[in-house]
Amino acid sequence: MNYKELQLKIGLEIHRQINTHKLFCHCKSELEDSKPNHLLKRYLHDVSSETGEKDVVAAYEKAKKRYAIYEVMDASSCAVETDEEPPHKINRDALDAVLEVVLLLNCKIINPIQVMRKQVLDFSNTAGFQRTAMVAMNGWVETKSGRVGITSVCLEEDSARRIKTAKDHVVFRLDRLGIPLIEITTEPDITTPEQAQEVATYLGMVLKSTGKFKAGLGTIRQDINVSSKGHVRVEIKGMQNLKLIPKAVDKEIARQQKEKKGKGEVRNVKPDGSTEYLRPMPGAARMYVETDHPLIEISQKELKEIKTAELLDEKIVQLEKKYNLNAVVAKEVIGNELFLKCVKKYKLEPTLIAKVLIEAPKEIKTRFKLNVEKIKEKDYHFVLEQLEKKTIPKEAALEILTTLAKGKKVDLNKYKGVSADKLEKEIKELVQKKKGIALNALMGIIMGKYRGKVDGKKVMELLKKHAK
Ligand SMILES: [Zn+2]
Repeated sequence: MNYKELQLKIGLEIHRQINTHKLFCHCKSELEDSKPNHLLKRYLHDVSSETGEKDVVAAYEKAKKRYAIYEVMDASSCAVETDEEPPHKINRDALDAVLEVVLLLNCKIINPIQVMRKQVLDFSNTAGFQRTAMVAMNGWVETKSGRVGITSVCLEEDSARRIKTAKDHVVFRLDRLGIPLIEITTEPDITTPEQAQEVATYLGMVLKSTGKFKAGLGTIRQDINVSSKGHVRVEIKGMQNLKLIPKAVDKEIARQQKEKKGKGEVRNVKPDGSTEYLRPMPGAARMYVETDHPLIEISQKELKEIKTAELLDEKIVQLEKKYNLNAVVAKEVIGNELFLKCVKKYKLEPTLIAKVLIEAPKEIKTRFKLNVEKIKEKDYHFVLEQLEKKTIPKEAALEILTTLAKGKKVDLNKYKGVSADKLEKEIKELVQKKKGIALNALMGIIMGKYRGKVDGKKVMELLKKHAK
């Protein structure tokens, strides 16, 4: 596709749960599967409609005939979630997490911060509005094909969890309501699907670097706004898998170009990257000042004290350089305390240590389907010690760890290397005996006999030496 000719414009909106208690009360931020302690039945709150736009009023009229049932779990919801009590003071840990991110995204902090009420008419909030606070704006991230602007970064409360939709009512669970969320919105500066993936990956890396955000299914929600030549913006919701972004965007462009008269709408992404119609594009939500929460002033001292995490991408580059690792391995040893300990302790190549600690257990897990949890820290030390003392060759590490994962005893005699003299003598004899046979075939003979006992590289060197 020629994206330039298609005048492709993409903007992202990323939501991620912050790993702390709820935003306006002290309830825990955890979803629950147990039975609700009690149920609440509510009709929609009265909305003040002094400047009521048509669509909002229409939606309100429609919603009025319906009601919601809220499942209340005492461990994860209180009178704030049920809207019987005003919000408590904003969760400062959540705000600090967002402040750290906005600095990493080169944004301008808004000070003081005003909590707002964003009207919601789908019952997903007991109060009829979602509380949201814009923390910063006008930032940017760098990509391979240029800068992408960050429009705004908000701190907001998650909505209640939809359990069931019936003809005349909806059922929501209150456990998710009030969990703090960061919302990052980019400018529609993105011009290719690959760039969209790059930005989403980068933002995910920034959030992960701080260690203050939740990870896993349901904790991340990314929406992608796509517009192409002759077609207005369409929002694709529910993108969980970053790798799916280019495919989904391509499919959406093709769909837009086929549709004669484009209309703005919200579509839901399916696992194959195609999308389905969800609802019309809503008008701008009505916002009011949250009068139950004071302005949040951030002092100069507080601003100075915000510490920003070192980005994981930078840490990876450093590890690559420091230990001469490739990028994939470097990414995996990040935060691996055992690796850092072993690199200091043993006079071994860091790549070899990474092989023993990271690659070997992975291979054991995928190839032999064994439980690598059975390999304890002392086992890894045992293998590394043997490697350092040269009592076993490198090749034996995988087999010894496999034996340990099987819960069996390791017989080191099995791996006792052949003495260098003996090996060289044998190779010399073999080369003379099997003149004219390819080196690889000779290699096969030696390795077959001494598998796990000799270093393959050394064998090949000796074979070459004596074949001359
Ligand atoms: Zn609560």
